[in-house]
Amino acid sequence: MSAVTLPSFIEMYRQLIAAPSVSCLEPTWDISNRQVIELLGLWLSSLGFKVEIQELEKQAGKYNLLASIGPEPKNGEASGLLLAGHTDTVPWDEGRWTRDPFTLTEADNRLYGLGSADMKGFFAFVIEAIRDLDLSQLKKPLRILATADEETSMAGARELHRFANLKPEYAVIGEPTNMVPVRMHKGHTTDCVRITGRSGHSSKPAAGLNAISIMHEALGYLKQLEQELKDKFHQPAFEVPYPTLNFGHIHGGDAANRICACCELHMDMRPLPGMRIETLNEMLHAHLAPIQQMYPGALEVTAMHEPIPGYECPADSALVKLAEAISGHRAEPANYCTEAPFVDALGCETIVMGPGSIQQAHQPDEFITLAEIVPAQQQIRALVQKVCG
Ligand SMILES: [Zn+2]
Repeated sequence: MSAVTLPSFIEMYRQLIAAPSVSCLEPTWDISNRQVIELLGLWLSSLGFKVEIQELEKQAGKYNLLASIGPEPKNGEASGLLLAGHTDTVPWDEGRWTRDPFTLTEADNRLYGLGSADMKGFFAFVIEAIRDLDLSQLKKPLRILATADEETSMAGARELHRFANLKPEYAVIGEPTNMVPVRMHKGHTTDCVRITGRSGHSSKPAAGLNAISIMHEALGYLKQLEQELKDKFHQPAFEVPYPTLNFGHIHGGDAANRICACCELHMDMRPLPGMRIETLNEMLHAHLAPIQQMYPGALEVTAMHEPIPGYECPADSALVKLAEAISGHRAEPANYCTEAPFVDALGCETIVMGPGSIQQAHQPDEFITLAEIVPAQQQIRALVQKVCG
C-alpha cells in the first residue's frame, strides 16, 4: 500500500484541475488523461482501494480506472455502489476565460477551473466524503470508476465490460446536476446523408443528375420520418415528449451554371429511452428507400459518431427513491446525454447526480460554488453509508 498522505479537499481539487485532460476530435487539442488517472490511483490506493487501470483498446493513451473496496460479491451477484465520472474535459476558449483554466482560483465564493463542475472535481468530492469512514467495515463493495473520452466518443464507457466482475447494484454518475437526481435522458445519433449525382452544364439538365434536386426529395421523406417519430413515440416526462430529428447542416454544389454532383446533409436524432438504435436506423432507411429505388447508388447514409442510446431508471426504483430522500429533490429527466446508458448496461440501477451546475459545463470561467461543497459531500457520504454501510 502507498505511503501517500491524502491531500486536503481543496488540494485534491487543485491538482485535478492542474492536470490537463482535454479530449477533442481535433488531434491538436487532444491530451491523454493519464495524469488525472494517476492522481486518483494514488489517492484511492492510500485509502485501501484496489486500483485497476486499463488503457482503452480503441483509444491508445487514454485510460479508465476502477477502484474497489469492501467485500467481494458472491457468485457474481450485483452488489454495492458504483460512483462514476469522466476524467476528461472539453477544450477551453482561449480568449474567453478571464482566469487560467488550469489554476484552481477561489473568488466570489466560487472555485473556478476547467473541469471544476464538469466534472473532475466530483472525484475530490467523493474522496473527501469517504476519507473519514471506516472502509474496512463496509458490508457491500464500494467502487469508483473514472472514464476517458466522455466528451468525444464515450470510448471509455464503451469498454466497461473489460473490468471483470463489475456488477454493482446501484450506480451514480456525478455529472453536475446541482445534486438533483436525474433518472432519464434521450439518446443521440448523428448521420450524414450524401447524394452523389453527375455534374454537367446547366443548359442541359438531362445530361447530369442533380444532387440538390434529389436531396430536395429526400428531405420530403425525412420530414415524414420526423412526423412519424412525433406521432408514434411519447414520453410525457420530457419537455419535448417525442424523439426529435434536426437538419443541422447542408452543402451541395459549387456554381450556379453547373449541375450539382454532390449534396450532403448532416442531421441528428434524439431517441426516447427504450427505443433501440437499430429501430431508429431501420425507420431512417425505410423512409429513404424510395430514393434508393429511384436513383440506384446515389444515396449513402453514414453515422458520424457511434450512437448513444437513451436511458431510463424507473421512478419507483430503490436508487431513485433513496437519492430523492437524500437530496430532497424529485428525480428529473435531463436534456443532455451522459455515460448512463453504458453504465446501466452493467445491469444496475443508474442515476446521474453530482455537484455543480450543467449551466457551467463547457463554459468559460467554469465554477462550483463554495456553498454547495459541504452539503454535496454529506449527501455522497449518506449514499455510501446507506448502500454499503
Ligand atoms: Zn460531463
